[in-house]
Amino acid sequence: MQIISKIDSTFIGFYSLLIPVVGVLVFVMSGQALALLLIPLLLAIYLPSVLRKPLRRRRVAAAPIPASWRDFLTARSRYYRGLGDEGKKRFELDIVLFLSDNPIAAIGGREVSWQTRLLIAAGVASMLHGRPGWEPPLPDGITVYPGSSFDGNYQVEKGNIAGQAPERGPLLIAEENLHPGIAEAGAGRNVLIHELAHFFDREQRRGGSGILPRSRRGRNDSWSDFWTSEWRRHLEHGSILPDYAALNEAEFFAVACEIFFEQPWRLHDAHPELYQVLQNLFQQDPRQILGNNLD
Ligand SMILES: [Zn+2]
Repeated sequence: MQIISKIDSTFIGFYSLLIPVVGVLVFVMSGQALALLLIPLLLAIYLPSVLRKPLRRRRVAAAPIPASWRDFLTARSRYYRGLGDEGKKRFELDIVLFLSDNPIAAIGGREVSWQTRLLIAAGVASMLHGRPGWEPPLPDGITVYPGSSFDGNYQVEKGNIAGQAPERGPLLIAEENLHPGIAEAGAGRNVLIHELAHFFDREQRRGGSGILPRSRRGRNDSWSDFWTSEWRRHLEHGSILPDYAALNEAEFFAVACEIFFEQPWRLHDAHPELYQVLQNLFQQDPRQILGNNLD
């Protein structure tokens, strides 16, 4: 994540120049002094509205993260421990920007502990780590359920739903599932990454950032065509991915992302081509990060 993207800063710069240029031109052509008077007024309306978010982000980024957060990440996130100094700095920036921009709420008015918020932010930060220009695809934030599961009627501690990525609304996650994924990388299960992958997949299907994986036929397929053919290929030839990945192409992608971040060596050894696609997509190789930290 960035305090301000290059595209946004270019647009802001462009319109900040366009407003006075148009004002002066109108004045020159019409002789209306009002055109000149409108320039500061329009800038006074435009600039605060577009600079609010980057200024807030800059303020948040400038504040040091609490020592207790750093201790918690060091103790609980193998991914964080595997990063070098620069990587840790960027990871921490992603965490504070994510927490400042994205609502995390618990059902029933419960408090979400800072540890739970930090585990969620750390999961998001690991997925975005290789792509500083990306933003988390979570416009409605995250809702935390207590315990380890909920059912189809969203009854707590019933059923076996660990997390969910609804078409509309926040990402849902049962709190206890945050722990196996983030804290014990290698377990092969990471509900947060799985559900995030669904949101990301959906964003790409809608046009997203235009990242297109290169197909085996050597041409750029659309996002959905590519993952449909990967899913079919794995159904045909077998796969080390858990059975759930066979359900459909969306689950295949979500499970593949989980294994990519949790068991990168295993995925690489069994399916090097799929690994390469995910490595290109996320612009990172989790083997290098987790490999720095084998204890
Ligand atoms: Zn799923």
